[in-house]
Amino acid sequence: VIALKHFFLDKNELGMWELRNDAVFDRIPQDRYIELIDFAWNIGREAAEECRDRYQTNIPAELAKKLGLSLLELQSGSSFSEYRVFSEYYSNLKRIVIYNKTIMEEYNKLVSDGFTELKDFIAMRELFITHEIFHHLECHVIGLTSRKKKITTFQIGPFKISSGVRAMCEIGAHSFTKTLLGI
Ligand SMILES: [Zn+2]
Repeated sequence: VIALKHFFLDKNELGMWELRNDAVFDRIPQDRYIELIDFAWNIGREAAEECRDRYQTNIPAELAKKLGLSLLELQSGSSFSEYRVFSEYYSNLKRIVIYNKTIMEEYNKLVSDGFTELKDFIAMRELFITHEIFHHLECHVIGLTSRKKKITTFQIGPFKISSGVRAMCEIGAHSFTKTLLGI
């Protein structure tokens, strides 16, 4: 799920916003923030550049098709979640679901708040498709970004528990989306 207002922040602000919202944020040493953000950002950027080169398109729906993804557009909102869900990706089905009603409502709300970053609903819808394409690439091609770096979440003497940082997948998805769409 994209937090849309934050999506338009620059790399470090957006990256920090995602890290702060991660369940393990308190366990990430301060001096690793930039490293983790840069690492995830580069993965997203490189994946977008590679897609553009290989599939010769930066149109999200076209790219999804070329990657073997099905795109299901629903005019309703999601009925499974109490949160507002704009889009979802189902790894086993290789399917992206787009909730047009929820996206449209959010777009109208943003515009009435003076938001001008996206020219229309279609442009906003493309952000969500592109975001989910990155999660697809993570699941089936490049591996989860959150598994590529570990932080220590618990330690007593030599005994350590380490964990990935789930927010890094989101940072990678934002970077992928911005690079592919030239934002
Ligand atoms: Zn996501």
